[in-house]
Amino acid sequence: MALHLERSQELQQRAEALIPGGVDSPVRAFRAVGGHPPFVERAEGAYLYDADGNRYLDYFGSWGPMILGHAAPAVIEAVREAALRSTSFGASTAAEAELAELVTRAVPSIQKLRFVSSGTEAVMSAIRLARAFTGRNRIVKFEGCYHGHSDALLVKAGSGVATLGIPGSAGVPVETTQFTTALRYNDLDEVETLFARHPGEVACVILEPVVGNAGTILPEPGFLEGLREITRREGALLILDEVMTGFRLSLGGAQQIYGITPDLTTLGKIIGGGLPVGAFGGRAEIMDMLAPLGPVYQAGTLSGNPLAMAAGIAQLSALHAAGAEFYDRLAETTRQIADGVQEIAEELGVPLVTNRIGSMFTWFFRDSSDSDVVIDFDDAARSLTERFGVFHRAMLERGVWLPPSQYEAAFVSAAHGAAEVEATLAAAREALMVAQA
Ligand code: PLP
Repeated sequence: MALHLERSQELQQRAEALIPGGVDSPVRAFRAVGGHPPFVERAEGAYLYDADGNRYLDYFGSWGPMILGHAAPAVIEAVREAALRSTSFGASTAAEAELAELVTRAVPSIQKLRFVSSGTEAVMSAIRLARAFTGRNRIVKFEGCYHGHSDALLVKAGSGVATLGIPGSAGVPVETTQFTTALRYNDLDEVETLFARHPGEVACVILEPVVGNAGTILPEPGFLEGLREITRREGALLILDEVMTGFRLSLGGAQQIYGITPDLTTLGKIIGGGLPVGAFGGRAEIMDMLAPLGPVYQAGTLSGNPLAMAAGIAQLSALHAAGAEFYDRLAETTRQIADGVQEIAEELGVPLVTNRIGSMFTWFFRDSSDSDVVIDFDDAARSLTERFGVFHRAMLERGVWLPPSQYEAAFVSAAHGAAEVEATLAAAREALMVAQA
């Protein structure tokens, strides 16, 4: 049942001659799952179309942004209209304040924010701000959480770093990570121990409130509340990295669902409607430390880019208008897909752990002797990645494109409906049999 990918392979060779691995972001190369990555020509709704004319049901949604589905008419029209007025000014526009209002209206902990061009930049800037505000250097993160590719944050970073089995990155001086401590997710005891060992040193605790970058992992009851309590007691800032979960799990993100008020939040992906955007924001007294008001420098030639702002305004306006019902519907579709495949796996005797929340999910392929919970990176890392690779290829051959790594969350969009659920379950039944053989 081989896919015809001749044109994609030609394009891959052309790209490889000039672009390392032929890709501009490593996980796209399919090293973790094997096979050849299709080259995408266009996408619409829930489907991607490649250069050979194959169609795929998309479960990675550009790694998160495409919650309305691809080429949503409101987003495309907004970008088209904005482009006619020029693509960048490097001067302020009304659109920046408009998007800021749409964000702060949904996420009340964000009193002020600033736009940047990626999630990586958003997190880098939030960390700098936390260090300046507290006058401290140490940052605490969690194993398996990815916060972009900046030097200080690649320690035990899940996502592509875990996918490729590398400990962090070459080219990062140990001196730049000496203030970074990575602890076990969902383990408050480790956090207490760290604070006891380094009193008055921790600038911030940063985490994905729901992890997507080790596969989907949910916070255990009390974990986020405990972090909030400890950081407040110790004078450290709590930064929720909602680049993935922001506007994905609810309008107010994971912090709304779990009732946690962070000091700072980082956003990206959905707020840019598929254009390059990030944002960081939070308490006004912290944000007002940014230049030109304060001493913390941060800048960007294309920050607040008018096309990105237009796409973000269109997408967030649609989400505001659709409200909670929209998220309930997405979660229900996701339940049918994720739990439906779990049931088929149980019927076929393929050990699988399904973690899901809202429209994010992961199927972890397990050894039958292993536990049936995945609550931290060590649990995730015991998954059978080769079996996942076989499953991934078998799904792709059947027209379903999952994220090409066991350590990534899959995403469901508003364009995934009953027909897509049915097609996914039928493909998964066959692919699970292939993976089991
Ligand atoms: N933070 C989280 C939670 C992410 O998932 C990502 C990207 O996947 C980032 C930060 C980095 O964002 P970007 O890839 O836009 O730099």
